[in-house]
Formats: sequence, C-alpha cells, structure tokens
Amino acid sequence: MAAQQTVDNKYVYDFAEGNKDLKDLLGGKGANLAEMTNLGLPVPPGFTITTEACKAYLATGREPDGLADQIEAHLESLERGMGRKLGDPDDPLLVSVRSGAKFSMPGMMETVLNVGLNDRSVIGLSAQAGGNDRFAWDSYRRLIQMFGKTVCEVPGDEFEHAIDEAKRAKGTSNDLDLDADDLRALVDAYKKIFAKHTGREFPQEPREQLDLAIRAVFESWNADRAVVYRRQERIPADLGTAVNVVAMVFGNLGPDSGTGVAFTRDPASGAQGIYGDYLTNAQGEDVVAGIRNTVPLQELERIDKKSYDELLDYMARLEGHYKDLCDIEFTIERGKLWMLQTRVGKRTAAAAFVIAGQLVDEGLIDLDEALHRVNGAQLAQLMFPRFKLDHEFEPVARGIGASPGAAVGKVVFTSARAVELAGEGEAVILVRRETNPDDLNGMIAAKGILTSRGGKTSHAAVVARGMGKTCVSGADELDVNVPAKKFTVAGQTVNEGDIVSIDGTTGKVYLGEVPAMPSEVVRYFEGELDPERTDDPLVRAVHRIMGHADAARRLRVRTNADTGADAARARRFGAEGIGLCRTEHMFLGDRRELVERLILAGTDREREGALAALLPLQRADFIEIFREMDGLPVTVRLIDPPLHEFLPPLEQLAVNVAVAQERGEDVAKEEALLAAVRRMHEENPMLGLRGVRLGLVIPGLFAMQVRAITEAAVEVTRAGGSACPEIMVPLVGAVQELETVRAEAEKIIAEVVGDSGVEVLIGTMIEVPRAALTAGQIAEAAQFFSFGTNDLTQMGWGFSRDDVEGAFFWRYLELGIFGISPFESIDRDGVGRLVRIAAEEGRAARPGLKLGVCGEHGGDPDSVHFFHSVGLDYVSCSPFRVPVARLEAGRAVVETTGSDSR
Ligand code: PEP
Ligand code: MG
Repeated sequence: MAAQQTVDNKYVYDFAEGNKDLKDLLGGKGANLAEMTNLGLPVPPGFTITTEACKAYLATGREPDGLADQIEAHLESLERGMGRKLGDPDDPLLVSVRSGAKFSMPGMMETVLNVGLNDRSVIGLSAQAGGNDRFAWDSYRRLIQMFGKTVCEVPGDEFEHAIDEAKRAKGTSNDLDLDADDLRALVDAYKKIFAKHTGREFPQEPREQLDLAIRAVFESWNADRAVVYRRQERIPADLGTAVNVVAMVFGNLGPDSGTGVAFTRDPASGAQGIYGDYLTNAQGEDVVAGIRNTVPLQELERIDKKSYDELLDYMARLEGHYKDLCDIEFTIERGKLWMLQTRVGKRTAAAAFVIAGQLVDEGLIDLDEALHRVNGAQLAQLMFPRFKLDHEFEPVARGIGASPGAAVGKVVFTSARAVELAGEGEAVILVRRETNPDDLNGMIAAKGILTSRGGKTSHAAVVARGMGKTCVSGADELDVNVPAKKFTVAGQTVNEGDIVSIDGTTGKVYLGEVPAMPSEVVRYFEGELDPERTDDPLVRAVHRIMGHADAARRLRVRTNADTGADAARARRFGAEGIGLCRTEHMFLGDRRELVERLILAGTDREREGALAALLPLQRADFIEIFREMDGLPVTVRLIDPPLHEFLPPLEQLAVNVAVAQERGEDVAKEEALLAAVRRMHEENPMLGLRGVRLGLVIPGLFAMQVRAITEAAVEVTRAGGSACPEIMVPLVGAVQELETVRAEAEKIIAEVVGDSGVEVLIGTMIEVPRAALTAGQIAEAAQFFSFGTNDLTQMGWGFSRDDVEGAFFWRYLELGIFGISPFESIDRDGVGRLVRIAAEEGRAARPGLKLGVCGEHGGDPDSVHFFHSVGLDYVSCSPFRVPVARLEAGRAVVETTGSDSR
C-alpha cells in the first residue's frame, strides 16, 4: 500500500510533461515554462516540484516520502540532457531554484540562483566561461549571499556592508569595478558572515544546497510579506507554491550577453507595440534591483539583431497562443536567446478593457471572452476621478489606498466641522486618527477621509468604500492632534483649513491642491462622450464590453436612491428601476419639527395633525422620484429606523434642558422631548422598535406613507407618465406582521388608485433570519421579496453592523476566519444559504415571486455572481455601482468554471 502511494504521488514534473493548464499543480511559472517548452521555444531545461509537495511539507514539516528520489531522478535526467553534473568541479551544471505559485505573487517568495557552486566548481565555471574568473567568483558570491539570506536567514545587510566595504577599498561605487581577486576575497568575507550566523561552514555539497534551497522556497509561502500579499489580493492561503529547478543560463558573461523583460502590449495603456527593458551583461535580478540603467527593448535590435528578431517572433507566437498580453523574461547568453518565463501579464484596469477590445478586433477572442477578461473592480477604478500628476507633486505621506479616487479639500478634524464647512459649500477632507460611527455625518459631508490608523477594513475604509468616497487610511506618518486641530507630518504642521489632496488608489497624501480630472468613463456613462465618435480607445472598449454584458445578463440592475437627482444619475448609468428608496431622509431637515410633533402627540388628533402635515411633503418626494424613473419599477420602503433617531441625542438634550432651567427659561417643550427620548431609549436599537414594528405601534404612520406613495403614482400617471410603485415593508419576521400592514395598505390603495390604472405591489424585505426561514409562509402575503443583506448579515452572524468592522474584524481577517468582511461580500455559506432557502421556499409557495436584493452586497462583484446563481431577478445598488453590477451580471452568465481573470 505504502509503495503504491509513493508511485501515485508524483511530485516532480519535467518541463516537457506539463502544460499551461496545470497551474494548480505546477504554479503559474512552472506551467508556463512547460507550455513554452512544448511550443518549441528555447527554455533552459528543468523540472517543477509540485504545490502538492509544498503543501505536504508545510503540513508535516518534512519532505513527503518519495520526493527526494523523484528529485534525484529528474536531476539525473537534466544532467544527462545538459551533459554536465550538478556542481561538477571541472564542468559544473548550475541551477536556479525559483518559487512559483498558481497566482503571481511578485517578489513575495524566494529564489536562489547559481546552486551547485562551491570552492572547487567555481574554478570549473571559470574554465567553462573561457577563463572568466571574475564572472565565476561573482556568481559564487551571489550564491552565498542569496543562499545565506534566503535559506539560513543571515541578515542581508551584513553582505551589503561587506560588498560596500570592498568597493570603498577600491575607491569605486560600481560593482563592475570589482575584479576577480576582489570577488574572491569577498567570497571569503561572505563565508565568514555565513559561519558566524549559522554556526556552520557554507555547504559545499551541491545536492545539499539544492535540497535546502527547495525547502526554503516551500517555507517562503508562509513568509509574512507573502501572507499579507495574499490577504490583500484575496489569494487563498492553502494553495502552496511550486518550485522550479532550472539549468542556469548567464546574462553576465560579457557584452554579448544580457537580460531583459518584454511585454507584448503596453501593460499601462494597452497600446500595441514592443515594450520592455534590456540590460547588457547582467543577471535578472540586476534589472529589478535597478543597479544599472536599462535601455528600451528596441535598442536590442542594434545590439543583437538576431536575438531581437527571434524574441519578436516568440513574442508574437506567445501572444497568439495565449490570446492575451504576455510578459516575458529572457536572457541572452553569448548571443543565444533563452526564454526564462512568460505569463499572461498583469495590466492596469484601463489596459484590461482596451486589450480585451483589441483582441476581439483581431479575431483572437470573442466578446464573451472579452467580458470574462475584465471585471467590476477594474471598472470601478476607472470611474473615480484621477489626479493629474507631474513632477511638481511629492507626497508627504503614504497610507493605504482604502477607497479609490482623488479628493482635494480643506482639512477638518471633527465631524461637526466637516458638516458645517460642507454646508457652506467648501470641499473638506476629514482627518482623524481613526473614525467611528459618530463620524458618519462628517464622512458623508467630506470629499475624502484620511486617517493615521487602521487598514483596509478599518471603519473609515469600509464606510468610505460603501459610500464610494475617497479614503486613505493608516497614514501613520501623520501625527493627528484633534483637540489642537492640527496634524504634523515630515516636520510640517497642517492646520484646520489648510488644503490637502489624497489619492485613495495609491494611498498618497499631498499638501496643497493637486489638480484632478473627471474620469472619461464616467463622462461616457453620463452621456457626455459619444462612444462612436470619441477616439479614446478606453471609452470605446468599455462601451462595447458593457453592451455585451447587458445583452448577456439575466439579472436586472436597479439602484438604491432616495432623491430625484440620484435616481436620474442612476438611470443614466443604466439602472432599470429603484430597488430601494429609503424614506427616512424624508423625515430629516426642516421636517424634524413635524416628527417631533408626531412623537410628542398626546392625542389622536395631534398625531393625525402631524401626519397630515407630512403627507404632502412625502407625496412631493415620491412624485419627483416617479418622474425620474418613469416607466420603471420603484420600490419604496416604509420607514425603518426607530423614531427617536430623529430626535436630538439624549446627553445633548439633557444638557440643554439643564442649562435652560438654570437660566429660568421656559423649557416645557424640551422637557417633553427629553422625556420622550428617555422613554424611547433602547439598549439595542437595531433590535428594537423599528421597521414594521414601528408601523404596527404608531397608528397612521405607514398609512400616511402608503397614501403618499399611491397619490404620487396616480398624479404622475394621470399627467401622462407611468409610475410603477412597489411598497416594501421592512424588518418583517412573521407573516402576520406583513398581513396586518398589507390589509390596511390595500384599503388605502384601492381608495386612492380609482380608475387611474396604477398598479401597486406590496412586498417585504427579507432581512431577519426568521423571515428567510419562514419564507414559504411570508410569500403568501408578499408580491415580492427584497433581501436586506445588511441586516441579514448583522442578524445572521450576530455582528453589530455599526461596530464590528472597526472594532475587531482585522483580527478575524488575520486569523482567516473570513477572507473579506461579510458586510462587503456575501457570506455564501451562511447568510447566502438563508437567501437561497428563502428564494426557493418563497418561489415554491408563490411561483413567479419577484426576488431582488438591496443590501450593500447588490453592488459587490462576487456577490452579484452569487445572486445570479440563486436565480434572483435583480440586484439593487448605489448609483455609482450600477455599471459595475451590470458588468458583473453579464460576466456571471459567460463565466466558465475553472477560469480566472485575476
Ligand atoms: C439591509 O438591511 O440590507 C437594507 C437594505 O436595509 P438598511 O441597510 O436600510 O437597514
Ligand atoms: Mg435593513
């Protein structure tokens, strides 16, 4: 049995055995090296140790059974192919040991070059290189340095000091001025450093070097930076890395050698052409390290025409083969071109759209594939304004790009001041150490938010993203002093009222005003740019791909909007109705007084008076919205939050009353208010008197809203328009609640509608877990369901939606309890299951039941795919996310399993 297992567990693949589709097993680099090998491109021979071997190693702390033998066998075959033996004293084979996970994690894991060099083979290498001693000793010192750092955790700066010392002694700052003797001496110095830190001599045995290097690459999967990068990029933590063992080729053998990178199109703009850099007489890491200046790839034509022509030919072949932008690493060893790596290249959001469009034009891919190759996160990025940056502007600090966009404004330090200045028409940036729910009004009022603490899931970041507001979080160079209304950074003091500019994409903070420009893509969505006429390739590509998404998608996309202006914008952005009109804002501002009257009403007459005064105001609100959404459905939700939210806070009121009493003023009204606030105070307002409960407790409140909605619909329709209202009852947990509200509403509707032809639907939110679990019953009384996934997440997890993200989610993310906040992206297994159950049982009870979602998740790309799979009819999201949801709804249809556009 054990023997059988060993045979089955194939941990090592020769390049000729793999292909590009084996990324799970061979990692991206290994799979693509195999693909190039099989295409007949000149890839140095080698083999790949699988991610399975890595996973087994990480799980047990030792190499799995059979791995050592398989490595031996592949090494022997490599040696045969090359006609050299690893570390042979006279004519050594050297190998590189390179990490390579399924998803590219640039620079996050380890590489060791020149494995196989030792005190004897360094001489053989020199002979092999035609007596080039300098080259051989330089290669050896690189091995000790890389091996020491990577495999044995020797502090890298000790090696740096030693080489700096050697250069100083030589009176130079250039590595190339160190000759063979200097480098031989440096090797001695490096070996001493190695021995001092490890308590052993630098290993001379080539196979031991190889095994230790492989082990170090396995372990680098769990290096801190790799863990952080994966979390950021949402790469699963359990994939492991493959290890590629590749015969070394050398770009540092003289002027006829060199190394470079190439892109088959411009990864920044998507423009067609030859892009890349080349460095003569250098090894790969020199290009990245920026030790010497590279030349544009085109120069290679002059330097080595044969290699250049060959490279161009391979680039064309690779692009045709992968049908996508490829990036390539290559080395030229004495006039012989070697392909060291290729992959479908990373690109900017703009380039992703442009390239997808070009490839369709070139007939390489169809529109389904083009749609698959872009995503909503990229589109969202393209919709934010950008700074016009040139050399003049140097950032003073850099934090985390928490919510994209470019914002400029006057610095304020409190929410109240933000509201005040914004009310005067000023653009403000709210600067805090970190934000909390009390800052919400200030965040809404501000153009951008800047904090000195907190990461991507801090309160500031999460709330700002939800609002589509620019945010830089965790700019820890800022010393924020709120009481003194100032912050200091880089020795400068910034006071309230000073201007700063923040870039929520890059996390950079600038003092003063950096000019910004609106996104071309938003101008297109707004109808300001004609996609047929513009010569902007990005706008043309977005237009084309969006058109295809719209044609493909099954999900409708509505918007969450409660003003005419938002409704109008969302409609321009492609919204097909309103999925959530929250009516609470209609109780704010100068209407507070009426709400106070309603709450304080001592008699039925007083209460009815207050409601009667609110009725025409509400009707006017709805008329505006129905007009903007003419012909499209509008879901109006009856008031949801507890009424005391519309009264002043308890403490403030108590202080005001006490002060006024002290002064002997007449405070009868304030006292009554204070008593009401005390009476209505709740320990858990989110679980208290809100939603349908409020409608059942306060007579006439929902009735007034139902009347206002219906009257508005009738008025718009009689005036020649077409209003399609859907009245939605919040926070229902039991069908009896809905039945009670519905019975009253239907009477009013019947009375108001008359012969106008207006049809009013009545449905409910599904946002209490009990509602999801009794959806079959509730569907009997509901013409539609809309999933309120914000509350459903809150109550499903028992997470206070106002508190937890800022309070402790960082720890949950760190522990991997979830990879992303469940308030941001739907928790498919738990909350998503509630959605699925409710959808299935609701539809079973009432075939054709209309189903939508209006929680924040309606605009989240991954969640949109989930809602598609559950069979909802629509998603509803904030206006700005409507295009993103349209795109993702289309992608959900064309997405084929197993492919990944990361
Ligand atoms: C929800 O709970 O998902 C929802 C849309 O309602 P609100 O966010 O207003 O509570
Ligand atoms: Mg809700």
